[in-house]
Amino acid sequence: MRLNEFNINEAEGEYTGVYHQTVDLVRDTPGEYNYCYNCKLVSTTLGEIEVEDQDETTVVCPRCGSEAYFEASDEEIKDFVDEDVVVDEHELVWAKTKKGPTMKWRCLSGPRKGRVVPKVIDCSEPIDVAQRARMKVTRARTKIRQARKAKKTKRVNPTSRLVRMLNKIKKR
Ligand SMILES: [Zn+2]
Repeated sequence: MRLNEFNINEAEGEYTGVYHQTVDLVRDTPGEYNYCYNCKLVSTTLGEIEVEDQDETTVVCPRCGSEAYFEASDEEIKDFVDEDVVVDEHELVWAKTKKGPTMKWRCLSGPRKGRVVPKVIDCSEPIDVAQRARMKVTRARTKIRQARKAKKTKRVNPTSRLVRMLNKIKKR
């Protein structure tokens, strides 16, 4: 039930992951939890999509862009996350290492959804809450520098370019 603890904990804060491509704006509503029926995200962050010729925006899940994203009470959130969550979905992908491209696993569910890990078992490893909190602080401080660096790496690093190519081929 570590996953539940993680979700509840995550519900205390803002969504800091990658925003869905359709999302125009994000707004944080501290203390007001929202639940996504599509990707099961629980967070206080609202994604907004601007609608042409309208003053109002459409509120969506910041992670998956789904409109099935509703305000939820603490009790409701507990009910949602108490559902059994299967943490055994993963796929093989190419990843960049110092020695060159290698195959790793991407977790498709569970606390590390979307993450690439060396071993399948790592997808179900419990989240270290302290470490996650530290990373949040680091990210807030260095995100501009990190984004600039990542952009350059994706452009010039040969392994990075090769990995992108290999994963594209794999998808077909
Ligand atoms: Zn979602």
